[in-house]
Amino acid sequence: MPLPLRRELAGLTPYGAPQLDVSVRLNVNENPYPPSAAVVADIAADVAVAAAGLNRYPDRDFLALREDLAAYLLAESGVALAPAQLWAANGSNEVMLHLLQAFGGPGRTALSFAPTYSMYPEYARDTATTWLAGRRETDFTLDPDVAHATIAEVSPSVVLLASPNNPTGTALPLATIEAVLAAAAEVTGGCVVVVDEAYGEFRRAGVPSALELLDTYPLLAVSRTMSKAFGLAGARVGYLAAAPELIDALRIVRLPYHLSGVTQAVARAALRHAPELMAQVGSLRAERDECVAWLRARGLTVADSDANFALFGTFDDARAIWQGLLDRGVLIREVGPYGWLRVSIGTREEMAAFRAALVEVAAL
Ligand code: PMP
Repeated sequence: MPLPLRRELAGLTPYGAPQLDVSVRLNVNENPYPPSAAVVADIAADVAVAAAGLNRYPDRDFLALREDLAAYLLAESGVALAPAQLWAANGSNEVMLHLLQAFGGPGRTALSFAPTYSMYPEYARDTATTWLAGRRETDFTLDPDVAHATIAEVSPSVVLLASPNNPTGTALPLATIEAVLAAAAEVTGGCVVVVDEAYGEFRRAGVPSALELLDTYPLLAVSRTMSKAFGLAGARVGYLAAAPELIDALRIVRLPYHLSGVTQAVARAALRHAPELMAQVGSLRAERDECVAWLRARGLTVADSDANFALFGTFDDARAIWQGLLDRGVLIREVGPYGWLRVSIGTREEMAAFRAALVEVAAL
């Protein structure tokens, strides 16, 4: 007997890149550096304390974590926020799902600009929100006039803007984000603008964070994650900064106690090590810039990147290049527009292995 599955889910497969056991894994934009011994020791000690209280439900509102996140954002971006302006969940994936649960839904539309993060349409599908994608330019930037016209035409309830964007690495200037916010302010009934800064810490010098706009725009929400810069993808901690009223709306849709006591302890311990972890971000940025320059010097086209990955191409048969690299123990991602490939920035040794394999496979 067929499963009584929702019609829109019939025949679909779960999202996810292959998790293959190869020596050089550069396919899901992870941080290649595992937590240091000092970070591991601090996490273990705090988890032991949390473990002793696991008979009780955790702090539902994770107030201590919200305070720590506010302190971190002040140090990282110079933007002062109150704990009531912060939210957290199991990865920024869940943060954004909460946003669509609260502000999307049947009869409403979520809009983004493609190519962009392929989970966005899944949040929309799972919340019965109509999904629409406008277009980015051929260099993957977003034309403010195109954005304005698209928003006016579509009247979305939620706009999702990844900056830096995945898979292209493109960061949006604040002027473009402000143009989107201005267009969103004209939407009847209101429209929440989510700037997804999952890769925010990797932005190049001089590129500001949308956090700076929070004071001016009450319907702006800036999403961040500990999965990338903090190297904590396995802990599943994402967070959001927005007006307290907007955060309060997310409390309605979250499951009770969604953020476990263990997760809260891990996140707080890692946040205490933010300065040391950010030093690694600096070396990953340098490695990225070197990788981009190297690919360009070999005649490839590379999208400007403010993230911990680079999108490069174009190849007549990108799949064959991807497979050739995999055959040499280097796993990257076939994603984005036709003919392009994305490589996450790894350690010096991993990047050297990637370059050596690519020289062979693409005959560079
Ligand atoms: N946003 C973007 C643009 C991403 O690329 C990712 C992860 N690949 C996420 C959000 C989600 O990350 P997490 O749930 O680990 O915070």
